[in-house]
Amino acid sequence: MELSNGAIAELLALEADVAEGQRKRALGRAASAALLWHEEASELQAKGRPFTDLEYVGPGIARRLERWIKDPPDVPESPPQRSGFNTFAAARRTVAADPSWRDELRGDLQMHTVYSDGKAALKDMADGGALLGYDYISITDHSGGLRVPRGMHEPELAAQGRAIGELNDELVAGGAGLTVLRSIEMNLDGDGAGDIDPAALGELDLVLGSFHSDLRSTDDVTERYLAALRNPDVAILGHPRTRRYSRRPGLIADWDRIFEVAASLDKALEINSHPHRQDLSIDLLEGAREAGVRLSIGTDAHDPSELRFVDMSLAAAMIAGIPKERIVNFHDEHTVREWARALRTAA
Ligand SMILES: [Zn+2]
Repeated sequence: MELSNGAIAELLALEADVAEGQRKRALGRAASAALLWHEEASELQAKGRPFTDLEYVGPGIARRLERWIKDPPDVPESPPQRSGFNTFAAARRTVAADPSWRDELRGDLQMHTVYSDGKAALKDMADGGALLGYDYISITDHSGGLRVPRGMHEPELAAQGRAIGELNDELVAGGAGLTVLRSIEMNLDGDGAGDIDPAALGELDLVLGSFHSDLRSTDDVTERYLAALRNPDVAILGHPRTRRYSRRPGLIADWDRIFEVAASLDKALEINSHPHRQDLSIDLLEGAREAGVRLSIGTDAHDPSELRFVDMSLAAAMIAGIPKERIVNFHDEHTVREWARALRTAA
């Protein structure tokens, strides 16, 4: 039985839990990185390659990998903040088994640029999307009502809108075949309210709303979700559980009730691709499938290289048995716009 990257992540994290200082940080970073490795560590030796080829693996961690892979230890069940995470290496295999998922995917509905906390320009993200063969990408820079994440207020949102308009003209002229949709990742407060003037939101193609505060609450916050879904401006609820690998397990809520309300309002819940989020997670996606909820795939990429993590969401949807037609990204741009418009009209 080969040791998976997921098992390696947990073994590294367990050592990090009891280590201190510099060593604790190195082990923690390697555990987090193991979710992102694009090949299985256990297969490297057969390829004649050193473990130090893997991100965040130095000589000390390489020695551990060698020992563990040679003689796999028992891996205990992960604590809540680390449980239920897939790895990029495993997701790539799942997606490779049915290429229709990548082929038929039309776009990516969450990513950031230098207009908020992203590292790349609009054009770089558009080029990255075109390289993946997408028909559209949606730019969802953060709104600016909180100190973290850093984001835009109405004037920057308007300036970004003009820049996206110019970029779309350039893309059409260059025959890129890709459209950049205007969106935002708007902070939602405990009452489901956003922090951007609804008139400014009316100019956008889509509005994604997310919780970025009070994420460590241990109370049942179902009402917070229902209020967010009922916010007339919000079409997609971003990274719904708000979990982060090894940091926090996510909010506690009655998910069946949330799925029921989301389905009745035809709002979408996100399948966030970031390997440290994977949110909605596969277990919750099964409930979403049964309730018939609409879903939306967003990589939450902060630079073009992170667009590759879309495989995390595709694999999650495949494993949970979500029909492609329930996922916004498998529809063409016209249909996506029509859906968003219908939501506004209904509100
Ligand atoms: Zn977010």
